[in-house]
Amino acid sequence: MSLDPQTDEAYALVELQDLDLRLLRHAATLKAMPEERKLETIALARKKVAGELTKIVGRRKDLEIEIGDVEGDLAHYREVTDRVQAEAATRQQDYREVRDLEAQLTSLAKRIEKCEFTLKGLRADLEKLLTAERNANLTLARVDQEREATQAAFDRSSSDVKAQIRTLAAERDATAKRITPEVMARYEQARRRFKGLAVETLKGNVPSVCRVKLQPSSFSDLMHGPVVTECPYCRRMLVTVEPFSQKDEG
Ligand SMILES: [Zn+2]
Repeated sequence: MSLDPQTDEAYALVELQDLDLRLLRHAATLKAMPEERKLETIALARKKVAGELTKIVGRRKDLEIEIGDVEGDLAHYREVTDRVQAEAATRQQDYREVRDLEAQLTSLAKRIEKCEFTLKGLRADLEKLLTAERNANLTLARVDQEREATQAAFDRSSSDVKAQIRTLAAERDATAKRITPEVMARYEQARRRFKGLAVETLKGNVPSVCRVKLQPSSFSDLMHGPVVTECPYCRRMLVTVEPFSQKDEG
């Protein structure tokens, strides 16, 4: 006996729900594995350290630019000082010229002193940042090592569940092909609304999930309507072909 397309679709729908519920359970099993929780914690820690490292590197680069600028100024003032001194040595000067040169040299010496003082502070800051950067890199390496070890442990302990998930997912693809896009869309919507339990079957005149006994008149209406309909009580999808196990005898 071969099934008509509507009946086959109704069976496929019930099978699909069963597969999806099993997939949900397997996903929950994976999620509950201690390594999975640990991986989540590690990922959070890594994100935090990586964020801090980015900030440190940004500040370090800014500081290096600032140090470069001050070093440039310092070299310039030293060069000017050398030039002024050389100039002073080459020729005789009158009193006013000597006084001007001395004033110029004093001003340059002050600038040089200020640059040196600033540089000292900036270089001390740079040392601190470089230390912080090294530490952050070390922490990151440690976190990555831990993640790899945990991932390897997780891969070992989860391989059975993952294999089952792959098999179920392939079965789901095959089953979904027996369902029209319209019914599939209704299923996906109901699945979200009812947290997985989207489809009911009938046991006699009782829907399998909400278990509210159908009135004889509404039962009769449903039995004369489409095989995939809607439960008048809970609004889940209701498959009215029964008994479901007949499919295997066909
Ligand atoms: Zn119902």
